[in-house]
Amino acid sequence: MMIPVRCFTCGNVVGEHWEEFKARAREGDEDPAEVLDELGVERHCCRRMLVSHKDLVDVVAPYQ
Ligand SMILES: [Zn+2]
Repeated sequence: MMIPVRCFTCGNVVGEHWEEFKARAREGDEDPAEVLDELGVERHCCRRMLVSHKDLVDVVAPYQ
């Protein structure tokens, strides 16, 4: 699925950081913790939204 726009726990907007996080920490070789620090995502609840996310929308879309 797509990244949720807001953190499930605190409601902070995290979706806007997904593309940059993915490019730098997943596809690039930067440390995910440093990328999150630079993006200003400080709470654990918000960080887990990005760290634990996997884009599945293109996998699931054909079956809808
Ligand atoms: Zn949060």
